[in-house]
Amino acid sequence: MQQEFYSIYKNIVENSTDAIICAGEQENIIFWNKAAQKMFGYRKEEVIGKPLTILMPESYREKHLAGVKRFLKTGKPKVIGKVYEAEGLRKNGEVFPIQLAVSATKNNTWIFTGVVRDITEHKNADMALKKYATRLEDANLLKDLFTDIMRHDLLNPVGIIKSFAELLVDGVNEKQKEIVLRIIKNAEATIEMIESAGYYARLESMEKLEMRRFDLNEIFKKVIDDFKPALAAKNMRVEYSTKDALYATVSPMIENVFSNLLSNAIKYSPEGKKVEANVIDENKHYKIYVKDWGYGIADKDKAELFTRFKRVDKKGVKGTGLGLAIVKRIVELHKGRVWVEDNPQGGSIFYVEIPKHIEV
Ligand code: ADP
Repeated sequence: MQQEFYSIYKNIVENSTDAIICAGEQENIIFWNKAAQKMFGYRKEEVIGKPLTILMPESYREKHLAGVKRFLKTGKPKVIGKVYEAEGLRKNGEVFPIQLAVSATKNNTWIFTGVVRDITEHKNADMALKKYATRLEDANLLKDLFTDIMRHDLLNPVGIIKSFAELLVDGVNEKQKEIVLRIIKNAEATIEMIESAGYYARLESMEKLEMRRFDLNEIFKKVIDDFKPALAAKNMRVEYSTKDALYATVSPMIENVFSNLLSNAIKYSPEGKKVEANVIDENKHYKIYVKDWGYGIADKDKAELFTRFKRVDKKGVKGTGLGLAIVKRIVELHKGRVWVEDNPQGGSIFYVEIPKHIEV
């Protein structure tokens, strides 16, 4: 029976992936398993009887010997029974990080057992992670700086270009007027781009939105009202039949979701078409949809539509490619989802589903 246990123990110790090394009171090595050979590079015959200190870099040796001496004298352990990190020295001179657990047992004399784990890979992964984190932090700082420059150093001059150009419009001949109007249009597009990019950058770094109880119906009716001039310019109309108040705990930013979808439905439809929009009460959720009879979206483009700067078939319409990325981010911050389907009669239907009340 005892023999059987002995061979089980021997097997465990010999096949352990941690190096197991025993030393006597004189600090000479008396046991050395296979993993120790693999880790330190010495064969058993080379180390048995040798001082344990050959396995540690020079800088550790004195402290180690003093520690053993103190333990033998006082019986009070300092590192024994603990797991700590140190360095090992391989036969080829390579110093490597180790995790070490030392125990001591006494028969006639003390025997110290060290269980050693090579943590080189662990440390490398740790370093790589730290490096990555620093790079990420740098990248974030750079992004903040860029957003700041855009908002403060670019927006003002573009605003000035636009206002001066507006002053010129009436005092020039027809040909010049065309050019001035183009300057204004481009300045406006740049302003929109800067504002959207700044808004998107802010949204990206937000983790939570301040939520309050709002009537979605009220918000959407106001948005439709704001779009009256754009709708009139293309001889379009919105069919919106939601009547009742629809209360939800949302951020006021939800307005941007609706206005972006409505704006796209108008932009990407030919003149004279209608848009249908509604909010459907689905018990725990609200489902919002904006349906158009416009140009539609090819299946291959649907997945990428909601990523930033992704503009697909533009149909000559100017845009930033940020609108749907902003929609998606706001919806995500409401723990909802957004997707697009084809309108069977031609065109697209954008759906947004948001919970009525989310746990914040
Ligand atoms: P932008 O409109 O500024 O280009 P968006 O992120 O709002 O950016 O939209 C991305 C792209 O998705 C648009 O360039 C357009 O090709 C397509 N798109 C969005 N909404 C519609 C729609 N209702 N009908 C057809 N295409 C659309």
